[in-house]
Amino acid sequence: MIAAPMEILRRKKDLRTRVTAWHMAGLTVGMVPTMGALHHGHLSLVREIQKYVDKVVVSIFVNPKQFGPNEDFDKYPRQEAEDIKKLTEGKVDLLYAPQPEEIYPDGFLTNVSVTRITEGLCAAKRPGHFDGVTTVVTKLLLQCLPDVALFGEKDFQQYTVLKQLTKDLDIPTRVICGKLIRDPDGLATSSRNVYLSPDERRIALEIPKTLKQVVQEAAEGILPLQQVLDKAKRHLMDCGFREVQYLEIRQSDDLAPVTGKITAPSRVLVAAVVGATRLIDNMPIPNVPAQPKTTS
Ligand code: AMP
Repeated sequence: MIAAPMEILRRKKDLRTRVTAWHMAGLTVGMVPTMGALHHGHLSLVREIQKYVDKVVVSIFVNPKQFGPNEDFDKYPRQEAEDIKKLTEGKVDLLYAPQPEEIYPDGFLTNVSVTRITEGLCAAKRPGHFDGVTTVVTKLLLQCLPDVALFGEKDFQQYTVLKQLTKDLDIPTRVICGKLIRDPDGLATSSRNVYLSPDERRIALEIPKTLKQVVQEAAEGILPLQQVLDKAKRHLMDCGFREVQYLEIRQSDDLAPVTGKITAPSRVLVAAVVGATRLIDNMPIPNVPAQPKTTS
């Protein structure tokens, strides 16, 4: 069966008009912001949000403000035709793919910044990254005004920051978290996985294996947490990672560092570099008080 064509809009005024018409017709609207190069992690977010709302908007915008000067903005994979095919098959109602001027017109001067929870973890090696994320997501949510927005557990710090942002700024969008999706070999699915050579991919697989080990040892509570983390970091470096940027246990609700005992729902989070590719991943630690809710 041929899927119905999906509407594609590139201007914020057209997006507003369409979403307003849906709202006037009594329909609820969900948004999944992405940077494109869509994979089954993104498509699982689409399937998830379809359970909550009548109409689904996916945005594709490779946001220059969230890339550092030495990062991969120029080579970030861009494949709009393939993305359109996947979204059409996924029965997405509308693709919003704005030109940069729709997001950052000449004379744009504003920066949206969340404090505290944007310190450490990914922020330590990516100064300015979260300001780029919070600025663009504020713009996308205000341009669309969805009832619900879905962000992936894969970028857990980002999800936590965006939940805080919408709460603090009274943006009338409910932020929810979609389950982290992995490739069959266990590697967290990412648009950046295409950069990995077969050798690098083999090394990369040590990330989920090591996280599982940390989760197990942290839940057992035999060794001090710092010892568990130090051993895991050494293991990753021995396996061939160029750098382990962080490997930490944080509380799930507010990302507070966990150093001694785990007394609240927590997770282990990692960023590590193999070759020229930076990978992130995280896992919840069970056997402690109830874990944070993901949507599936
Ligand atoms: P990106 O296009 O990488 O900016 O990601 C767009 C959204 O998809 C973000 O909310 C990510 O957290 C989410 N996402 C990316 N990879 C995955 C994955 N493997 N599983 C679940 N969500 C993901």
